[in-house]
Amino acid sequence: MLFVTLRDDPADAEIPSHKLLLRAGYIRRIGSGVYAYLPLMWRVLQKVSQIVRQEMNAAGGQECLLPQLQPADLWKESGRWDTYTKAEGIMFALKDRRDQEQALGPTHEEVITAIARDMIRSYRQLPQLLYQIQTKFRDEIRPRFGLMRGREFIMKDAYSFNIDEESLEKSYQDMHTAYCNILRRSGLAFRAVQADSGAIGGSASQEFMVLAEAGEDEVLYTEDGQYAANVEKAVSLPPEVEPSPFTSYEKRETPESQTIEKLCQFLKCSPTQVVKNVLYQTIFDNGTTVLVLVSIRGDQEVNEVKLQNELTKLAPKYGAKTVIKVAVPDAEDLKKLAVESLPLGYIAPDIAISIRDRDSDTTTATIDTIPDSVTRSVFDSNENPHKSAKDVAPRFLCLVDKTAVDLKNFVTGANESGYHVVGANWGEQFQLPELAVDVRKAKLGDRAIHNPEQTLQSARGIEVGHIFQLGIKYSIAMGATYTNEQGEEKPLFMGCYGVGVSRLAQAAVEQSYDQDGIIWPVAIAPYHAIVTIPNINDTQQVEIAEKLYAQLNQAGVETLLDDRNERAGVKFKDADLIGIPYRIVTGRAIANGKVEVVERKSRKSHEIAIAEVVSTLKQWMNEAMS
Ligand code: ATP
Ligand code: MG
Repeated sequence: MLFVTLRDDPADAEIPSHKLLLRAGYIRRIGSGVYAYLPLMWRVLQKVSQIVRQEMNAAGGQECLLPQLQPADLWKESGRWDTYTKAEGIMFALKDRRDQEQALGPTHEEVITAIARDMIRSYRQLPQLLYQIQTKFRDEIRPRFGLMRGREFIMKDAYSFNIDEESLEKSYQDMHTAYCNILRRSGLAFRAVQADSGAIGGSASQEFMVLAEAGEDEVLYTEDGQYAANVEKAVSLPPEVEPSPFTSYEKRETPESQTIEKLCQFLKCSPTQVVKNVLYQTIFDNGTTVLVLVSIRGDQEVNEVKLQNELTKLAPKYGAKTVIKVAVPDAEDLKKLAVESLPLGYIAPDIAISIRDRDSDTTTATIDTIPDSVTRSVFDSNENPHKSAKDVAPRFLCLVDKTAVDLKNFVTGANESGYHVVGANWGEQFQLPELAVDVRKAKLGDRAIHNPEQTLQSARGIEVGHIFQLGIKYSIAMGATYTNEQGEEKPLFMGCYGVGVSRLAQAAVEQSYDQDGIIWPVAIAPYHAIVTIPNINDTQQVEIAEKLYAQLNQAGVETLLDDRNERAGVKFKDADLIGIPYRIVTGRAIANGKVEVVERKSRKSHEIAIAEVVSTLKQWMNEAMS
């Protein structure tokens, strides 16, 4: 066996599971986000795949294998070519020798919809559920943590086709059940949570989170089990507003008060009485840059995923299809947009108007291009180095978060460095932005909407699965229809369902290890048992070990034999490191017709009669996997 373990932690691995998989010889890094699955890892991946396959088959799924090389035309039909190659830029795109654009599949909605369009004609053929287990390619911005976020990884993706919403909901529920079974059988502690639908589109979606400290996602949930959501999507009740101490409108000097905390200390007020105005810059896929001002209650933060979703909805008003980027502009961005003089930290909700007025000699408002329901002003500065390129003219878009709408006598910026105003009101000193949205970040300790007595708890999770109700988004875009019982042509309802097979395997390690190494759940361990010969020069030890090794494998207990010419201590260390659930040692006890059997997880050691090893292990395995 090609068996190489490392004593020390590899330098480039940050989280325990990544370090352990490298050290124990499961994976090798070949390039950024690209790994070789070595024989031990491949066995784990096949076990996970097998569990996934069984549960998908049990839910009526049909396994297939779709091409990884996908023609750009399909992605142009669905409207996702630009999003995936430019906006998110996550798709590897290439040109073939005929100069035709192609992509390496990051996901397969387009391919499967094209197939459904050709093959599904009638309601009699529905519902359908197809799935595949395959390598996906994604040019992730930050590939990291080994298999957790690779640029090439294994996914099970499934797609359902249904006649209507109701049937789709049924398929979605079936997948929910299948996913719970997959994770339970893989021996993982997990939670299903409400999720953001992101660029895939559609309505309902849930993520399956494996709970672990190193998880990239934050989950907010309530103890009563009634609510759990990814923080990107979570909603809650904000804390109550404290009554304002200010009764009349006034401009106040507030030196050194760029932050809410300092401001509140200085003015002796609560952050709930402040309207904070946060500046963002968004770039649409047609190149238009828009400055976005979000007015939100001072004690709250902006959820950038919710903000991006709101901005995506507005894209058509800017002649665009989607948002490429939302970010807080840095000094350089502000300079590029010729708004470097903004009084950062003292911005008022009507900044757009003031800036234009103040700089009116150098700006030209291009009013005719304003989508007027959403912008306050549009201007094109003469100082703008890109002034000939109209598409970079900054525009201000003012949004107000719902938390700031009902505030009375509030504090906010005065549009002048070192000054704020107090006792302000919407409709008096400031016009309330027309677009009131929920872009607020729910957080730990907030009251739950379904029951204000429940407060949100927080946990970290690794997203290993995601199920979506896509609805008719793709079937409309690509013309995938069927004929219903009444003879009418209707769009297919679709769902899509993904499991990160390689991510799940590593998540299992992240959830289960100790200072000596990996502790695999029995169901997905590469081998169930390892027979270790302490001294290979002792022929009796070798003989018994080889016999047990053969018997165990024959009985379906997948077993390794460590007959290397190494010290016993080295072999025990390696067995612990690679995390095989049961270690059988043909040591001193053989004098009494017994062997030592150690359970990796509990470290409990038992002396078991040689003749009973097979039956005992089979029993333990069954218990562990039930
Ligand atoms: P993430 O938010 O982590 O990037 P995603 O929302 O892009 O995930 P989906 O498109 O829903 O993921 O893909 C389905 C599943 O594939 C995910 O739940 C995850 O388990 C897995 N997955 C996605 N991206 C990667 C990756 N880069 N490396 C490994 N697994 C991944
Ligand atoms: Mg992703």
